[in-house]
Amino acid sequence: MKTYIIGNWKMNFSTGESSLYLHKLLNKVPSYRDIEVVVAPSTLSLQSLSLQTERRKIKLAAQNAYAADYGAFTGETAMASLRGIVNYCLVGHSERRHIFGESDKDVRAKVAAALRFGITPILCVGETEIERDMKETASVIKDQLLGGLSDVSKEDLDKVIIAYEPVWAISGHGKATIAKPSDVDEVVKLIRETLAATYSKKIAENIPVLYGGSVKTTNAAAYLSVPGVNGLLIGGASLIASEFLGIIDIAKRTIVE
Ligand code: PEP
Repeated sequence: MKTYIIGNWKMNFSTGESSLYLHKLLNKVPSYRDIEVVVAPSTLSLQSLSLQTERRKIKLAAQNAYAADYGAFTGETAMASLRGIVNYCLVGHSERRHIFGESDKDVRAKVAAALRFGITPILCVGETEIERDMKETASVIKDQLLGGLSDVSKEDLDKVIIAYEPVWAISGHGKATIAKPSDVDEVVKLIRETLAATYSKKIAENIPVLYGGSVKTTNAAAYLSVPGVNGLLIGGASLIASEFLGIIDIAKRTIVE
C-alpha cells in the first residue's frame, strides 16, 4: 500500500501565494512510486493549481465540498464541479464538524457524492477532549466511521481513505496535546477491527488509515511506525516548506527501513 502525505492548508495562502508555494514544492518533490503527496489548498485556488501541478508528483485535494450536484445552496461548491480538478476531498474534518456543525448525515452524503464523481473521500474521524475524558472515544469513532460509510457500497470501500484526527491533538485550537503513538495505535486498531467486523477482514486491511494531529518532522517517524498507519494528514506544518518536505523525506526513509 502507498504511504499518503497530505497537507491541509486550511484557510491560508492567497491564490498567488498558493501558486508560489506549489511551485516551490514541485521543484523539490520527486515523483515517488510508493508515496502519494497531496495538498489541499483553498477551494478558490484549486482550478488554477490543477493546471499548474504535475500530478505524478503532487495531487490535489479539496478541503470540503457540498453533496448536492447543483441547486440553491448559496456559497457552496458542488463535489460535481471538482471532478477532474482534484483526486481527493477531505470529508468531515473536525473543523467542519465542530465549527460548521456538520453531522454524520452530512458527512455520509459527502462521502457518497465524492465517490459518484470519482473523487477519493478522506473521511476524518476523531474524538474531542471531553469525549476522550468521558471514555467515549471508541463509540464516537465507531459512530463517525460507520455513519460516514453507511451509503458506500462494498465495492466502493476500497476507494475510501480514513484519517484518524483526535480533535484534542490538532494544533491551531489553543492547547493541543501531542498524541502518543500508543494513543494512535489503539484507535487505528479499533478502526480496522470495526471495519473487519462490519465488512470483512480484507476490506479492513485494504483501506488506508492515516493519522493527523500536530504532525511535525520531530514526530512523523514515530507515527508512521505505528502498525496500520498508512500516512499522515498535516495541517500547520504543511504550510512550512522545510517541514512538509522533511516529513516526505522521513516517510521515504521509514518505508525503506
Ligand atoms: C488538521 O487539521 O488536519 C491537522 C492535522 O492540523 P495540525 O497538523 O495543525 O494539527
